[in-house]
Amino acid sequence: MSEPVDVVLIGGGIMSATLGTLLKKLQPDWKIVVLERLSEVAQESSNAWNNAGTGHAALCELNYMPEAKDGSVDPAKAVAINEQFQQSRQLWSSFVEDGILDGPSTFINATPHMTFVRGEKDVAYLKKRYEALRTQPLFAGIEYSEDSRVINQWAPLLMQKRKKGEPFAATRVPAGTDVDFGSLTRQLFDHLAAEGVEVRTNVEARKLRRQADGTWRVSLRNSLGRTPGSLDARFVFVGAGGWAIKLLQSSGIPEITGYGVFPIGGQWLKTSNPAIVSQHKAKVYSQASVGAPPMSVPHLDTRVVDGEASLLFGPFATFSPKFLKHGRITDIVAQVRPGNILPMLKVAVDNPGLIKYLVGELAKNHGKKVDSLREFMPTARDEDWELLQAGQRAQVMKKDKDKGGVLQFGTEVITSADGSIAGLLGASPGASTAASIMLGLLKTCFPDRIAAWEPELKALIPSYGTTLNGRPEVAAATIAETADVLDINR
Ligand SMILES: Cc1cc2nc3c(=O)[nH]c(=O)nc-3n(C[C@H](O)[C@H](O)[C@H](O)COP(=O)(O)OP(=O)(O)OC[C@H]3O[C@@H](n4cnc5c(N)ncnc54)[C@H](O)[C@@H]3O)c2cc1C
Repeated sequence: MSEPVDVVLIGGGIMSATLGTLLKKLQPDWKIVVLERLSEVAQESSNAWNNAGTGHAALCELNYMPEAKDGSVDPAKAVAINEQFQQSRQLWSSFVEDGILDGPSTFINATPHMTFVRGEKDVAYLKKRYEALRTQPLFAGIEYSEDSRVINQWAPLLMQKRKKGEPFAATRVPAGTDVDFGSLTRQLFDHLAAEGVEVRTNVEARKLRRQADGTWRVSLRNSLGRTPGSLDARFVFVGAGGWAIKLLQSSGIPEITGYGVFPIGGQWLKTSNPAIVSQHKAKVYSQASVGAPPMSVPHLDTRVVDGEASLLFGPFATFSPKFLKHGRITDIVAQVRPGNILPMLKVAVDNPGLIKYLVGELAKNHGKKVDSLREFMPTARDEDWELLQAGQRAQVMKKDKDKGGVLQFGTEVITSADGSIAGLLGASPGASTAASIMLGLLKTCFPDRIAAWEPELKALIPSYGTTLNGRPEVAAATIAETADVLDINR
C-alpha cells in the first residue's frame, strides 16, 4: 500500500534541509517526508570536511570575474553571487532569531576572504578587479596591497621566507565567512523532525514513476535491501547530490534528456598544529592552473568545525567513477542514454586541458602536494599536513546546440513542465547559495502559491524580490544587521 504525502525530499543535504525548512514555514499543514540513504544526514557534499566551507560571496574567487579578451573585467557575476549570499545570510539570521538554529558560532564564523596572486600579469589583473569592485556597495571595505609588510599583517604564512624578486599582490575583505554546512544541515533537520517532518534515514529512493492522478510514486529500499513500501507525493525534490541525475532519469521527464555528469573527486591537506593554525585567519584564494576547472582553484583556509580551528589547503583533484563519496563504481556508465552520449563524448574531445590537469593532479604524491602548498606558504613542512578525502563533485555536461556538448561548473535546477518534480545538478557555488536556489525553485514549482507566500518570504529574507547592490544604504544596513545576528565581521 502506497502512502500519500504532500512532499518528498530525496537526500539529507543542505538543499533538502533548506527547502524543507522553507516549506514547513510556508505550509505548516503539508505532510513532508525526507529520505536519506545513509545512516545520518549531511554525510555527503554538505559534510563539513567534504567541502571547503567558504561562504561564497565572490569576495575572493577570481572565477566569478574573469578578464575578458579585450582586458576588461565585468563585476556583474560577482555582484550577483554576492546578492545570493546575502539572501543566505538573511535567511540564517531569521532562523537564528526564530530559534531554529543554535548560536551562530555553531555554523558560521567571521573569516576574512583574500586573493593572493604572483607574477606581473596576475598582479595587473587583480588590481583591475579591485578597481572594478571597490565602488560596488556589496564589496565595500575591500583592500588591495602589493606591499609585503601589509600582506604579512593580513596573512603572515604567505610572506614568511618568500623569495624576493617576484611581484605579488593581494586583496582582502574582512567581511568573509567560514561556514560549517554540515552543522547547519543537521540543525535544520533536527528542527524539521521536531516539527513533525519524518526524516527517514537508511532509506533510499529507488525509482520515480508518475501516476495517472499526476502524483509521483517513490519506491523505496532500506539498508537491508528490503522494500519498505512506497510514497505517493504531489511534489518531489531530488536533492540527492551526485545521484540526482539517476533519479531524474528514472522519472522519465523529458527535461533531463541530453544531460550527463562528470565526477571529480577532491582531497585536502589539513593541519591542526596550533603553532601554524594560530598564524592564519583567512581564506586565501588564487588563480587556477591552466586547464583546471574553476572550482579547483587552490586556497589556504581557516576552518572552524565543532568549535575547533584548523587549516585546509586544496583541493587536489582525484578521479573516481562514483557520483557520491558513498556512490557506486557503476555510476558513470549507468547514466549513459541515447540522448546524452553524444554531448558527453563531445565534452571529452573538447576538454583536453581538463584531462591533462586531472592526470597531473593524480600523479602528485604527498611531497608534491605540499610543494603546491609551499607556493602559498613557503615554510610548509610535509610532516605537519595530513591528507583528507573531500566530497565528490558531479559536474554538469549538457547538450549545446552550437558546440554539441558542454561541461559547466555551476548548479542547475531541472524542473518538469508542470512543476511537480525538480532536482538539482552540479556543485558550485553550491551550499552558500542554497537559499537563493530554493527561492527560485519555489517560484517555478509553485506559481499558484508564491504570491500568498510572499509576505512570509519577505519576513524571512527582507531583500526577497529585490537586489541590494543598487541601494547602498539598504545594502550597508542589511549587512550590518545580519552581521549582528550572526555575530560575524567585526
Ligand atoms: C570538494 C568540494 C568543495 C566544496 N566547497 C564548497 C564551499 O566552499 N562553499 C560552498 O558553498 N559549497 C561548496 N561545495 C558545494 C557544496 O558542498 C554542495 O553544493 C552542497 O553541499 C550540495 O548539497 P546537496 O544537498 O545538493 O547534496 P549533498 O550534501 O551531497 O546531499 C545529497 C544527499 O542525498 C543522499 N542521497 C543520494 N541519493 C539518494 C537516494 N536515492 N535516496 C535517498 N538519499 C539519497 C546522499 O546520501 C546525500 O546525503 C563544495 C563541494 C565539494 C565536493
